Amino acid sequence: MAMRTALGWLTIVLTATACTTTATDPPGGSTAEPSRTTQPAQTGGTVGAVDREAMKDDERTAVSAVDTFWRRYTTEQFGQPYQPPRVAGAYTGTNGPPCGGEPESVPFNAVYCRPGDFVAWDENLMAAGYSQIGDAWIYLIIAHEWGHAIQARLRSDRVSVAAELQADCLAGAALQGAADDGLIAVEPGDSEEIAKTLAAVADDYPWTNESDHGNAEQRISAFDTGVAGGVEACI
Ligand SMILES: [Zn+2]
Repeated sequence: MAMRTALGWLTIVLTATACTTTATDPPGGSTAEPSRTTQPAQTGGTVGAVDREAMKDDERTAVSAVDTFWRRYTTEQFGQPYQPPRVAGAYTGTNGPPCGGEPESVPFNAVYCRPGDFVAWDENLMAAGYSQIGDAWIYLIIAHEWGHAIQARLRSDRVSVAAELQADCLAGAALQGAADDGLIAVEPGDSEEIAKTLAAVADDYPWTNESDHGNAEQRISAFDTGVAGGVEACI
């Protein structure tokens, strides 16, 4: 992420929809540049060929930008003190923080854990998308999980029954809002990366265990709604 043009990613996201093939493609699908990973992305194996430090920089920037956006928005628009979720951060495989009654984390996943009020992600999931799609993958996943944390803070009647699509919408609102606030900037290619990410993580991809994330078109549409209309359009 680096330079933003107004509605630039919205336009390209919509265009890119046609390029996504099925909801079950691995990250990058058939349209991606050749994979630089040494193992198939979905095996949960270690992805070696990633600049881990650069990736961690993006994770830190994504957390900071999304957190800062929601801090401002919550205090200014909701008139509430902002309590951020804890960032349990990166794990690998089953060694992530336990959530509720689950003793082990889910490999190759990213999660907002409501009982523990934290977000966490498998570094191998991040690395696979980072190498095969690009840095926008990191931003979207963190903004999406943060969206679930925001849902947990909303009055229940403001949380959509389509909670996953609403989280995508909140992710779009937060990333666009953070760009508007100068916290991040969008660079050419980000919008296509966002579309590829949403297509890759649509139903059947083991990003989460839930089956209601929606198909690629629904997810891209939800993200775009947040980009164009902001938080109000999502809730
Ligand atoms: Zn989700």
